[in-house]
Amino acid sequence: MDSFTVTTRERCEMIDITKKVRDIVSKQKISTGLVCIFVPHTTAAVTINENADPDVPRDILNQLNRLIPKNAPFLHCEGNSDAHVKASLVGSSELVIVSGGELMLGQWQSIFFCEFDGPRTRRVYVEVVGSKP
Ligand code: ZN
Repeated sequence: MDSFTVTTRERCEMIDITKKVRDIVSKQKISTGLVCIFVPHTTAAVTINENADPDVPRDILNQLNRLIPKNAPFLHCEGNSDAHVKASLVGSSELVIVSGGELMLGQWQSIFFCEFDGPRTRRVYVEVVGSKP
Protein backbone atom coordinates (compact mmCIF):
# COMPACT_ATOMS: atom_id res chain seq x y z
CA MET A 1 0.00 0.00 0.00
CA ASP A 2 1.09 3.55 -0.72
CA SER A 3 -0.05 6.74 0.94
CA PHE A 4 0.44 10.48 0.80
CA THR A 5 -0.59 13.49 2.85
CA VAL A 6 -2.87 16.33 1.83
CA THR A 7 -2.61 19.65 3.66
CA THR A 8 -5.90 21.53 3.49
CA ARG A 9 -6.28 25.27 4.00
CA GLU A 10 -10.06 25.80 4.17
CA ARG A 11 -12.80 24.24 6.29
CA CYS A 12 -14.40 22.84 3.13
CA GLU A 13 -12.21 22.28 0.12
CA MET A 14 -11.80 19.94 -2.85
CA ILE A 15 -8.20 19.24 -3.87
CA ASP A 16 -7.24 17.49 -7.11
CA ILE A 17 -5.12 14.42 -6.20
CA THR A 18 -5.18 12.80 -9.66
CA LYS A 19 -1.46 13.37 -10.31
CA LYS A 20 -0.46 11.82 -6.96
CA VAL A 21 -2.59 8.74 -7.69
CA ARG A 22 -1.30 8.52 -11.28
CA ASP A 23 2.34 8.70 -10.05
CA ILE A 24 1.72 5.84 -7.61
CA VAL A 25 0.10 3.73 -10.36
CA SER A 26 3.00 4.46 -12.77
CA LYS A 27 5.54 3.37 -10.15
CA GLN A 28 3.81 -0.02 -9.81
CA LYS A 29 4.26 -0.67 -13.57
CA ILE A 30 1.05 -2.70 -13.89
CA SER A 31 -0.70 -2.91 -17.25
CA THR A 32 -4.20 -3.92 -16.18
CA GLY A 33 -5.87 -3.68 -12.80
CA LEU A 34 -7.59 -1.47 -10.28
CA VAL A 35 -6.56 1.34 -8.00
CA CYS A 36 -8.43 1.96 -4.76
CA ILE A 37 -8.16 5.42 -3.21
CA PHE A 38 -9.20 5.35 0.44
CA VAL A 39 -9.54 8.25 2.88
CA PRO A 40 -9.14 7.07 6.53
CA HIS A 41 -11.00 10.02 8.08
CA THR A 42 -14.57 10.60 9.29
CA THR A 43 -14.83 14.24 8.18
CA ALA A 44 -13.14 13.99 4.77
CA ALA A 45 -13.92 12.03 1.61
CA VAL A 46 -12.90 11.29 -1.96
CA THR A 47 -14.85 11.73 -5.17
CA ILE A 48 -14.42 11.88 -8.94
CA ASN A 49 -15.79 14.81 -10.90
CA GLU A 50 -14.97 17.59 -13.34
CA ASN A 51 -11.95 19.77 -12.84
CA ALA A 52 -11.86 21.52 -16.24
CA ASP A 53 -14.23 24.17 -14.88
CA PRO A 54 -13.23 25.10 -11.30
CA ASP A 55 -16.85 26.19 -10.74
CA VAL A 56 -17.88 22.51 -10.64
CA PRO A 57 -16.06 21.67 -7.36
CA ARG A 58 -17.17 25.08 -6.00
CA ASP A 59 -20.79 24.26 -6.87
CA ILE A 60 -20.50 20.84 -5.22
CA LEU A 61 -19.15 22.36 -2.00
CA ASN A 62 -21.68 25.21 -2.01
CA GLN A 63 -24.59 22.83 -2.56
CA LEU A 64 -23.37 20.45 0.17
CA ASN A 65 -23.16 23.44 2.52
CA ARG A 66 -26.75 24.45 1.61
CA LEU A 67 -28.02 20.88 2.09
CA ILE A 68 -26.14 20.28 5.35
CA PRO A 69 -25.68 23.58 7.21
CA LYS A 70 -23.04 23.64 9.98
CA ASN A 71 -25.56 25.09 12.48
CA ALA A 72 -28.33 22.50 11.92
CA PRO A 73 -29.57 20.91 15.18
CA PHE A 74 -27.11 18.00 15.49
CA LEU A 75 -26.54 15.86 18.62
CA HIS A 76 -22.77 15.21 18.25
CA CYS A 77 -21.01 17.64 20.61
CA GLU A 78 -17.86 18.34 18.59
CA GLY A 79 -19.60 20.90 16.37
CA ASN A 80 -18.56 19.15 13.18
CA SER A 81 -21.59 16.96 12.49
CA ASP A 82 -22.13 18.60 9.12
CA ALA A 83 -18.64 17.36 8.17
CA HIS A 84 -19.49 13.81 9.29
CA VAL A 85 -22.70 13.82 7.20
CA LYS A 86 -20.94 15.24 4.13
CA ALA A 87 -18.15 12.65 4.45
CA SER A 88 -20.69 9.80 4.51
CA LEU A 89 -22.63 11.19 1.54
CA VAL A 90 -19.54 11.64 -0.61
CA GLY A 91 -17.84 8.41 0.56
CA SER A 92 -14.47 7.26 1.79
CA SER A 93 -13.21 5.45 -1.31
CA GLU A 94 -13.07 5.42 -5.09
CA LEU A 95 -12.07 2.61 -7.43
CA VAL A 96 -10.56 3.37 -10.85
CA ILE A 97 -9.77 0.91 -13.64
CA VAL A 98 -6.18 0.81 -14.88
CA SER A 99 -5.65 -0.25 -18.49
CA GLY A 100 -2.43 0.00 -20.49
CA GLY A 101 -0.84 1.41 -17.35
CA GLU A 102 -3.21 4.42 -17.45
CA LEU A 103 -6.06 5.49 -15.18
CA MET A 104 -9.26 5.05 -17.20
CA LEU A 105 -10.67 8.40 -16.16
CA GLY A 106 -12.91 10.26 -18.57
CA GLN A 107 -11.59 13.33 -20.35
CA TRP A 108 -13.03 15.74 -17.77
CA GLN A 109 -12.68 13.58 -14.67
CA SER A 110 -10.31 14.23 -11.80
CA ILE A 111 -9.97 12.57 -8.41
CA PHE A 112 -10.67 15.01 -5.59
CA PHE A 113 -9.80 14.82 -1.92
CA CYS A 114 -12.75 16.44 -0.12
CA GLU A 115 -12.06 18.27 3.13
CA PHE A 116 -15.11 19.05 5.27
CA ASP A 117 -13.52 20.00 8.61
CA GLY A 118 -10.21 21.64 7.80
CA PRO A 119 -7.72 23.01 7.77
CA ARG A 120 -5.86 19.83 8.68
CA THR A 121 -3.14 17.50 7.48
CA ARG A 122 -4.84 14.42 6.04
CA ARG A 123 -3.77 11.02 4.77
CA VAL A 124 -4.83 9.20 1.60
CA TYR A 125 -4.20 5.47 1.12
CA VAL A 126 -3.73 4.04 -2.37
CA GLU A 127 -3.74 0.32 -3.15
CA VAL A 128 -2.93 -0.82 -6.67
CA VAL A 129 -3.96 -4.36 -7.66
CA GLY A 130 -3.10 -5.72 -11.07
CA SER A 131 -0.99 -7.70 -13.43
CA LYS A 132 2.32 -6.68 -14.96
CA PRO A 133 2.76 -6.89 -18.73
ZN1 ZN B 1 -16.91 14.89 15.17
